[in-house]
Amino acid sequence: MDLMYKSTRSEEGFVTASQAILQGLAADGGLFVPTELPKLSLRMEQLCKMSYQETAYEVMRLFLTDFTEEELKSCIQNAYDSKFDTEEIAPLVKAGNAYYLELFHGATIAFKDMALSILPHLMTTAAKKNNSHEEIVILTATSGDTGKAALAGFADVSGTKIIVFYPKHGVSPIQERQMVTQRGENTFVIGIEGNFDDAQTGVKNMFGNEELKERMLKKGYRFSSANSINIGRLVPQVVYYVYAYAKLLGEGKISDGERINVAVPTGNFGNILAAYYAKHLGVPIGKLLCASNENKVLYDFFATGRYDRNRDFILTNSPSMDILISSNLERLLYHISGNRAADTRARMEQLKAEGCYEITQEMRKQLADFYGGTADQKQTGEAIASLYEQTGYVLDTHTAVASYVYEQYRQQTGDQTKTVIASTASPYKFARSVMEAIWGKPSELSDMELIDRLCETSLVAIPNAVEELRNAPIRHKKVCETSAMQKEVEAILEL
Ligand SMILES: *Cc1c(COP(=O)(O)O)cnc(C)c1O
Repeated sequence: MDLMYKSTRSEEGFVTASQAILQGLAADGGLFVPTELPKLSLRMEQLCKMSYQETAYEVMRLFLTDFTEEELKSCIQNAYDSKFDTEEIAPLVKAGNAYYLELFHGATIAFKDMALSILPHLMTTAAKKNNSHEEIVILTATSGDTGKAALAGFADVSGTKIIVFYPKHGVSPIQERQMVTQRGENTFVIGIEGNFDDAQTGVKNMFGNEELKERMLKKGYRFSSANSINIGRLVPQVVYYVYAYAKLLGEGKISDGERINVAVPTGNFGNILAAYYAKHLGVPIGKLLCASNENKVLYDFFATGRYDRNRDFILTNSPSMDILISSNLERLLYHISGNRAADTRARMEQLKAEGCYEITQEMRKQLADFYGGTADQKQTGEAIASLYEQTGYVLDTHTAVASYVYEQYRQQTGDQTKTVIASTASPYKFARSVMEAIWGKPSELSDMELIDRLCETSLVAIPNAVEELRNAPIRHKKVCETSAMQKEVEAILEL
């Protein structure tokens, strides 16, 4: 029996995994969730002997049950190959009190590569399986890292076009350069005069626009999403939590069944939701530490049971976490409400209309495994400097938010449980913030000079993804108002 997927917002319309990947978002605006959370079928002592690719197959086949073994293995082989600069794909590095799971060894040096290097393969396979002949138009809003990773994944993939919207004044200079230099005839990158939430709302509105959809179909196009609202993004992210546990076990760092905690620097709630799914698979995970920057809606949510986006949007030194509407929280709400779609729909409507909602006492009890923490920009810088001074290991600003929250949690609770921190970006992606944190003062040097200094400081080779930016020509220059996003899409697709 295939595992089916349904919307978080209605009881009808069951689809297969491949259909859910192809559609991205459910027709009612909800997110697809599996009707049942699967369990691992192999024991950890078997998994700990496996490569990343083998682990990926064992995990993903549980969620993507309508893909054949051959199809899934081929997607995995095409994704996790020499695009990654290490055979381990996701190395685990001990520094200070924690294990850092380095998820930034892919083509664009942020953890988004873990899912976006496989999503194009899953999607084109899904299109074939469902006899879908329309050209797939990937529409993506990015806070900086998804955009580049999606562009790199979909560039020149036949049967697809990709259009990325990013906040013109809300990403790091390196992130912007990475995107606007993207090659590929099917790639389009547009800056918007707005923040990430504006970009995400604009994209969601286009997905929900039936009239636009009709005109697209007439031209032979269909939209899909590369954002973490797509279940095809989420499932590949479950893999590395299983892999990390198996690796700790294989290396004798933990005993079989010993619980670990996981700390995740969080924005759209995709990465930490994947950890929650891994826990449900049977990985012995105790606490899930959800780390926020100054845009601390999630911290407040875990503390009070009330989600409230009515506040100022703050641009921080961890821009990929500058988010006030964490889309994937909708999936968690659905699960902890006892799969009540009507309740989830009501909350999401209230969020849209009033910018806030509350959960019940029963639902809050289901959140006992989550610990919400927050670090401001100064604390983030301190976390980078202090770990560097103690160990020589250099964190990026996002991972540093989680590192700070983890230390805070340890001090508050005395919990000594071994902890894996999801390390979501290479420090090279945020070289200015990182070097300024280590030096404790602002720097006059250029971004490229700072990259050279970071190399001398961290003794880690400069990744190719950064090297090639030095001379890459700018290919995308378009900037638009938030209200003009749809017009831009219509122009690109000649609708
Ligand atoms: C996207 C991103 C995050 C946030 O991940 P979510 O899945 O959106 O919570 C954290 N750090 C980096 C570097 C990112 O690119």
